[in-house]
Amino acid sequence: MQQQKPESLTYPTPVQKRKLPMRGLLAAALLPLFGMVTAYGIAPDTDTRDVPVQTLIENLSLPQSDSQDQIKQVYHHEEKVLAGETLGALLNRLGVSQQDSSLLLSQPAARISRNLRSGQRIQADISEDGELLEMRLTSSEGALNRISRQGEGFALDQPQDVAESRIVMRSGHIESSLFAATDAASLPDSVAVKMADIFGTQLDFRTDLRKGDTFSIVYEMDYRNGEPTGTGKILGAEYVNAGKVYQAVLYLTPSGREEYYTPKGESLAKGFLRSPLEFSRVTSGFSNARKHPVLGYTRRHTGTDFGAPTGTRVKATSEAAVAFVGRKGGYGNIVILRHRNGIETYYAHLSRFAAGMRPGRSVSQGEVIGFVGMTGTATGPHLHYEVRISGQPRNPLAIRLPGSPPLPVAQKTRFNQQTAAWVERLGQLRGTNLAALD
Ligand SMILES: [Zn+2]
Repeated sequence: MQQQKPESLTYPTPVQKRKLPMRGLLAAALLPLFGMVTAYGIAPDTDTRDVPVQTLIENLSLPQSDSQDQIKQVYHHEEKVLAGETLGALLNRLGVSQQDSSLLLSQPAARISRNLRSGQRIQADISEDGELLEMRLTSSEGALNRISRQGEGFALDQPQDVAESRIVMRSGHIESSLFAATDAASLPDSVAVKMADIFGTQLDFRTDLRKGDTFSIVYEMDYRNGEPTGTGKILGAEYVNAGKVYQAVLYLTPSGREEYYTPKGESLAKGFLRSPLEFSRVTSGFSNARKHPVLGYTRRHTGTDFGAPTGTRVKATSEAAVAFVGRKGGYGNIVILRHRNGIETYYAHLSRFAAGMRPGRSVSQGEVIGFVGMTGTATGPHLHYEVRISGQPRNPLAIRLPGSPPLPVAQKTRFNQQTAAWVERLGQLRGTNLAALD
């Protein structure tokens, strides 16, 4: 592992701003935590709870700016206590040196062994030469026991409330579906959905996925007493679809906006979303290939039909002004949006409209404008989506728009400082993926 530049670890995560009721707070730290999990996607109906996922997590200690060479690599381990396991056996399994293990066992702190229960989560920070720096044991009731280095020995304490925000990396590859793969990678649904949103102008995760696709994600995760409590932002993401690499990194602009760019500084917000439907566990399994059984071939079909359950959220595919909201013949309940360059989009057969939709109102890309239904000429719930340029129906995939402006040259240094670390991690994760696919 190469050392990183210190500034690459100081992404302005709003840890201090989080509103956690932290009673007796002992430590709130931003610990960069890099876990590499190779996930093998499995059939969606397989119970994944007992699938052993090997976790090797590297922890980069925050380097001092000018003494990087002296910094020892620290590895962060997450394990579960095995049935009947003694403290000595556990330390051995974690890779703690014989010297530290004997030392700890000879000290009062060894009474932590009374708290060892099968299945408990253990987190340990261990240097590359087996030095135990800290070990945390979380009971099933959420109580935390912590062993930390103190002087020549170890101390045991029970911190009341430890809140941390960490940076986690996960990667995997697609065998059957995105959610099967993200389940296997222990990736929360909210992160999978965010990834689908980030790449929304380039990929439709309902239809474009291929077996053998790979993904890598760097994201924030909040922990309390060692247990995950929520997910934060995605800092970097990569999706390799049918051999083509898509990458995104989060950039905080000088004016405080968060935007996703390619590592080269191209905006990912440009153009149109590939799918007007929210991506979720429910919609991911629905086919796109719905035909119009009612209309048959008597009328040219001028759009794309997206099969989805009634009530699925429908999103504006690009920023626009609302041109029409109401009923229109066979379209049923329809929203028509007017975009730049004479482009209009139609969203038809809606069960209902989002609150506040009225002509003239502006909507942003991804904003919910209505809900899937089967009003008008429709035999089942689906969204009829249409793109028109100067009134003529067009294939949405063939639309070419002037792109959003790329990153200003003057911000390139700032951009690179914020994002270089994530780009490097994504590259490393891809190597892990390729090895797993061999
Ligand atoms: Zn249709």
